Parts: sequence; structure tokens; C-alpha cells
Amino acid sequence: MITRADALEIMTAVIGAHPRTAPRWHDDHDAARATADIWAKMFNRHTLTKRDLLDAVVRRAADNPITAPEPGEIIAVARAVRRERSEREKAPSMQIDRDAADERRQAIEACRLCDPNGWIDTDDGRLTRCDHNRQIGS
Ligand SMILES: [Zn+2]
Repeated sequence: MITRADALEIMTAVIGAHPRTAPRWHDDHDAARATADIWAKMFNRHTLTKRDLLDAVVRRAADNPITAPEPGEIIAVARAVRRERSEREKAPSMQIDRDAADERRQAIEACRLCDPNGWIDTDDGRLTRCDHNRQIGS
């Protein structure tokens, strides 16, 4: 939830990133507050966080320095920032899954009893998961 104070902070970041072209909002406090309220409403339509929005101001300024951004441009970049962050946060758990699969495959390769999928015949002729710890003949 972006508050008026958050939006004012984002506007200050825009001024910092675009000292020549950003509007001088803070010269007129009433106008700055009114603008901040509108920006907050726009940002909250997309449930963006202040962190993603501040990252977006910096990224947008670094990639496109000519003019200060419209709030809609900050939203577009902030959504990309959020998407990339959630993909990054998902990645480590996928790595753990891959590591576990590698370990399982190596255990099957090292085991001389089970088939390539890790199954083994029991004495009564059914298939069961091999624990790869049985010795031949036991
Ligand atoms: Zn096995």
C-alpha cells in the first residue's frame, strides 16, 4: 500500500534522478500533495511496493535519462522489476529440486540391483522402490 508520504518519497527520487527535467513539485506543497495522492492511487492499482517503485525510478533514469518519467512509465518499469524479483526468488528452490534429482540419479547408477528408474523386483514378484542399500544375495 503506497501512502501519500511514499509517493512524495518516489517524487523526490525522480527529482534526484532527473535534476534538470523533473517538475519542481516541492515548490508548491499543495500541488505536491495533490500529485502524490494521484500517484499513490495509480501505484496502488497495480499493488506495487515502494521498493520496486524506487528501483524503477533508478532503472528508468539510468536507461532513459532524457526526461523525467510520467507515473505510468514508472509503473511499467516497476512491474518488470517485480516480475524479475519474483523469478529470482523462485530460482533457488528449483536448484534444490535439481540437486535432489541429480543425487537420485547417481544413486540409481551406482546401485546394481534396480532398473534405471529406481524400481526393484521383490521376492513375491512385485515392483518396489529400491533404497539402493541392499546387497546382492541378501
Ligand atoms: Zn537401487
